[in-house]
Amino acid sequence: MPEKPKTLADFTKPHMVLNCMQCGRKGRYNVARLIERHGPDMPIRDFINLIGQSCCRWVNPTERQECGLGCSDLIYMFMPAPATDAFARKQDEEFQRRS
Ligand SMILES: [Zn+2]
Repeated sequence: MPEKPKTLADFTKPHMVLNCMQCGRKGRYNVARLIERHGPDMPIRDFINLIGQSCCRWVNPTERQECGLGCSDLIYMFMPAPATDAFARKQDEEFQRRS
């Protein structure tokens, strides 16, 4: 049975912070407002994808220029979703570079 995607209603914090380490984008979104606008059943992954439409690396990724857009909260709140895998990997690399 495929896992049900996490939706905006599943998000347990009042704000969702999205970061892109590649292009430096950063956004903070009020989750209650998002639910008002998109409905509680919108998968979080779809929302991240929606925001990603404004990043050229997200829309047109190449092997070396992948958009790193993701939400670090999701990694800890849920198991890594496909949309956050790349982001988690980037954070690991960042961590190892520093230590
Ligand atoms: Zn980006």
